Amino acid sequence: MLPAQKIEELSNYDYDHIWHPYSAMQGGVPVYPVISAQGVRIRLANGRQLIDGMASWWCAVHGYNHPVLNRAIQCQLEDMSHVMFGGLTHPPAVHLAEKLIEITPLALTSVFFSDSGSVSVEVAMKMAILYWHARNLPGKNRFATIRNGYHGDTFGAMSVCDPDKGMHGLYSDSLSRQFFAESPDCRFDAPCTKRDMKSLTELLEQHHQQIAALILEPIVQGAGGMRFYAPDYLARARKLCNKYQVLLIADEIATGFGRTGKFFACEHAAVTPDIMCIGKALTGGYMSMAATLATSEVSKTIDQGDPGVLMHGPTFMANPLACAVALASISLLEDTDWQGRVKSIEKLLDAQLSHCIDIPQVKDVRILGAIGVIELHQAVDMESITEQFVNAGVWLRPFGNLVYLMPPYIINDSDLTKLCRAVSEIVGNLPE
Ligand code: PMP
Repeated sequence: MLPAQKIEELSNYDYDHIWHPYSAMQGGVPVYPVISAQGVRIRLANGRQLIDGMASWWCAVHGYNHPVLNRAIQCQLEDMSHVMFGGLTHPPAVHLAEKLIEITPLALTSVFFSDSGSVSVEVAMKMAILYWHARNLPGKNRFATIRNGYHGDTFGAMSVCDPDKGMHGLYSDSLSRQFFAESPDCRFDAPCTKRDMKSLTELLEQHHQQIAALILEPIVQGAGGMRFYAPDYLARARKLCNKYQVLLIADEIATGFGRTGKFFACEHAAVTPDIMCIGKALTGGYMSMAATLATSEVSKTIDQGDPGVLMHGPTFMANPLACAVALASISLLEDTDWQGRVKSIEKLLDAQLSHCIDIPQVKDVRILGAIGVIELHQAVDMESITEQFVNAGVWLRPFGNLVYLMPPYIINDSDLTKLCRAVSEIVGNLPE
């Protein structure tokens, strides 16, 4: 716990000088000083403990301050924290690549390490353009995607985010023009109809000669609306890509590492993408790291084309500390019954949140794996609802008209129940 005066100093300096995600420099929604985090608890500087319902935006699947992950970083630190990856390699990078190739769909055998999800999307888009260039089809240099999608905040990634509902509308004149199909209406457990496929089918039929790849978040669309769609849609999208010679990029940055109940969401549809982006929970939320995986067909074609190289090379590419903790995090998942844990979180979310549909302010309730979403009729007042959650001892970060939970997998039933109770009570008291 910090003295009140110190907390005030920190908060004032932060307010005056530091941008937070998606916020104004000054005058934005207040931020809460944190001094430590342990397990599923975030400890604020004023001593209050909050049960974490966000896993720090999908990342901290094992909770915070995990002894195994701490040890992995400490051991790696003894050898080296970083060396450049240009012209050098090291065991953590090689072992992590081996592990990623083992756990992702079989055909993905080439790995590009980067430092954030958005960059892994940029790299995926570059790979797709290079691939068709190498195949003498340089006109295939644009991208198809579906509405309500979100793929990151850098320029290439922004160009494939939903252009209307996304956060990047203001930049539209500066972004590459991409092709947007309607997103499917079929819910996760509902059949996917011809009507759901119509828009994407027509788009690929008409424009495939210009399209390098279709980029999608498999099964769960995250920051673009927290929508879940039927696996069959993804399977049919894969078939359309094959038919029209369009690569499929699966953005598993949010969905990867078990969050939807499968290790990767593509597994719900038994689909192998040509290129796959992973990030977030890759390091269990410890370090900033992402990766783009490609099939050998993609990587070999790029190598054999002109210029024969992938011109991208982040300074912190394959950072050894990040590789070491990623390996430890994946081993932890493999050594525990993560699937059983996610299943029981799903069951509990279902038992404790489904009734929220009877609250007049609630439009929809969706639950899949360790994700619970309450969609409201109206956008929330972020400042006020966050304060109510903090006062109730939980950490949630609603946006727009969505209140959603994605807790660390290690959360126990009693803490998850407290989270769900706070959600239903506070949502129930929102103004109609
Ligand atoms: N794709 C998806 C599906 C995401 O959820 C995110 C992050 N919210 C990104 C890409 C971008 O990742 P990062 O914030 O690490 O750049």
